[in-house]
Amino acid sequence: MEELLRRSEKLTTVGQLAAGVAHEIRNPLTTLRGFLQLQLETNKLNTRHVDIMLSELDRINLIVGEFLILAKPQATRFEEKDVRFILGDVISLLDSQAHLCDIEFIANFNMDSCLISCEENQLKQVFINLLKNAIEAMPDGGEIQVSIDSKGSSEVSVSIIDEGIGIPEEMISKLGDPFFTGKDSGTGLGIMVSQRIIESHHGMMEIKSKVDVGTTVTITLPLIQKPREETSEDQPNHVQ
Ligand code: ADP
Ligand code: MG
Repeated sequence: MEELLRRSEKLTTVGQLAAGVAHEIRNPLTTLRGFLQLQLETNKLNTRHVDIMLSELDRINLIVGEFLILAKPQATRFEEKDVRFILGDVISLLDSQAHLCDIEFIANFNMDSCLISCEENQLKQVFINLLKNAIEAMPDGGEIQVSIDSKGSSEVSVSIIDEGIGIPEEMISKLGDPFFTGKDSGTGLGIMVSQRIIESHHGMMEIKSKVDVGTTVTITLPLIQKPREETSEDQPNHVQ
């Protein structure tokens, strides 16, 4: 059965988030401390221990890194951009990684121009998060469709359709909860961060999924409405 998730249902408070971060970072820190203590007492730290320590440090770095994206909104500069170019850049960025996993991106950009007001790097981060999830859901390879379509005259929709393992019904309502992951090495932050970014762009994100069939994530964003004709006295002004 198909399920639907609306981003607005998932707003958590800063306090809950901070508690989550503290919890997630404390675990690897405890491991690191344990190994350093072992070294101090026995001088017996081996390569395996150091490997674990490095991967725990990487994990802390990953978690902090994902949160930095959220911490930036004050410095956000919204600019007029075409979604086709943003999505095209992200597809090129992830293409080689996809090929390694026997995955092909199929782009269906069904609009001539789709100008939106956005913070480009944040929006790229959203598409990276979602395309990575799609790749990670397809261990045996396959196709990922990436489509751009108009939704009425005032919105653009971006759909990412994978043929992956799908998401069980009972998990759907938990998507977007900080640190909720179904993966051994996941952070469970990708969808939450993406939802926040889309919300700050006055958009919406929907996730539909069927186990063993695949997942469709659809993002809807408002288009910039252009006046039909401009006369010489009616120059556009560029005030943000
Ligand atoms: P992470 O990828 O670090 O686990 P996310 O917030 O990106 O965190 O995703 C949360 C969970 O949602 C994933 O661990 C996975 O179980 C599930 N998920 C997200 N996208 C997909 C997808 N396209 N196909 C299958 N499962 C998905
Ligand atoms: Mg992810």
